[in-house]
Amino acid sequence: MEQIRFFLPGPSYVPEEARQVLTRPQVGHRSPEFKRLYKSLTGRLQQVLRTRDDVLILTGSSTLAMESAVVSLVGLRVLHLTCGAFSERWRVISQSHALEADRVAVPWGQGVDPELVRQALRRRAYDAVTLVHNETSTGVINPLEEIARLVREESDALFLVDAVSSLAGARVETEAWGLDVVLAGLQKALALPPGISLCSLSQRAAERAETVPRRGFYTDLLRYRKKHLSGGTLTTPAIPQLWALDQHLDVVLEEGMEQRWQRHLELQVKTAEFAAANGFRFASAEGFRSPTVSCLRPPEGVDAPDLVARLARKGFVVGSGYGDWKPTTFRIGHMGEVRSTDLEGLFGAIEEAVAELTHEPSYASHPHR
Ligand code: PLP
Repeated sequence: MEQIRFFLPGPSYVPEEARQVLTRPQVGHRSPEFKRLYKSLTGRLQQVLRTRDDVLILTGSSTLAMESAVVSLVGLRVLHLTCGAFSERWRVISQSHALEADRVAVPWGQGVDPELVRQALRRRAYDAVTLVHNETSTGVINPLEEIARLVREESDALFLVDAVSSLAGARVETEAWGLDVVLAGLQKALALPPGISLCSLSQRAAERAETVPRRGFYTDLLRYRKKHLSGGTLTTPAIPQLWALDQHLDVVLEEGMEQRWQRHLELQVKTAEFAAANGFRFASAEGFRSPTVSCLRPPEGVDAPDLVARLARKGFVVGSGYGDWKPTTFRIGHMGEVRSTDLEGLFGAIEEAVAELTHEPSYASHPHR
C-alpha cells in the first residue's frame, strides 16, 4: 500500500485503485449499463448512510447539497446551529435566498450546546434546523444524536445535517437518529475525488418539500428524487467519479462501518498523544475533538503557516488554518484511507520541521541580513 503523505482535511488522499477507473471509456447516463451501476450504488450508499431513505446523487460539491436542502425544504424560517466557517456558510446561503435565518452560535472551537438549541426551539417555530456534524474549520464534532433527539422532542422542524467531513469517518445513524437530510461529499472520509455530493431525504422531508413553492431546478431535491425513483440522476452526472465510487464503496463496506469509525477514533487518539508529547495544543475543546480532522496550535516560537510550508517542502501536505484562524492553527486530515503508520510518517516530518524552525536564526534577531 502507498505511504500517504497527503493529509488535507479534504480533498483527501484517493487510493490508486479508485484513480485507475476514472479513465474508463464513457457510457451514456441513460444507458442500461449506467442504470445498473446507479442501482447498485444506491443500495450500498444506504448502508454507508445507515438508512432506507432515498440517497440522492448530485453532481456538484457539497455546497450544492447544502443550498438544495434549504431551498427545497425551507419555506420561511430556518435555525442554523453554528460553530465555525461551514455552519456559518449554511446561514449565508439561507440569507441569500431571503429566508429568515436565525442562529444559535457558539465560539469557534466549541461544540454546539444542546441546551441553547432547546431554548431557541421554545422561542420560535422553524421549518428546519441545520447542523454541521463535523466542523472542518475548527476540528469540532458536535453531539449529533443528542441534538437530533432534542429537535424531535421540541419541534416538528426538519433536521438537516451536513456530514461532509464525518460520513464514513464517524458514526452517523441517519434512520435510527431520525435525520431528515444527511448530506456529504465524496472527497473527505470516503477518500474519493471531489465533484459529487450525496443527500439522503426522509419521507417526511419529501412531503414537506411539496409545500415549498420555489425550489429552483438544479437545487430541487424533489426533481432529483423523481429521477432517482426511476433509476437515474437529474442531469448528466460526473460518471467517472461514480465509477470510482462503485470501486471504493466495496472497500469501505468490506472494512465495515463500525471498524471504519473505530479506526478514525484511533487516529484521533494517536494525534492527541503526539500533540501532548510535542507541545501542540488543540484548538477544539476537549470532548468535541473530531475523529477525522485535528486543528492544532503549534508550540511557542513556531508559526503555523511556516510549519505548513516547511512540511510541504518535505513532501507532506497538511491543511492551513481556516479564516481568522489561519495565522495560528493548522489542520491534519486523518480521514479516509489514512492509517496509523501514515500518521507516524507525518509526525516524524513535523518533529523535524519544528526543530529546523526553532533552531534557524530568525530575521528579527538578525536585522541586518
Ligand atoms: N461542509 C463542511 C463541513 C466542509 O468541510 C466543507 C468543505 O470542506 C463543505 C461543507 C463544503 O464542501 P464543498 O467545498 O465540497 O462544497
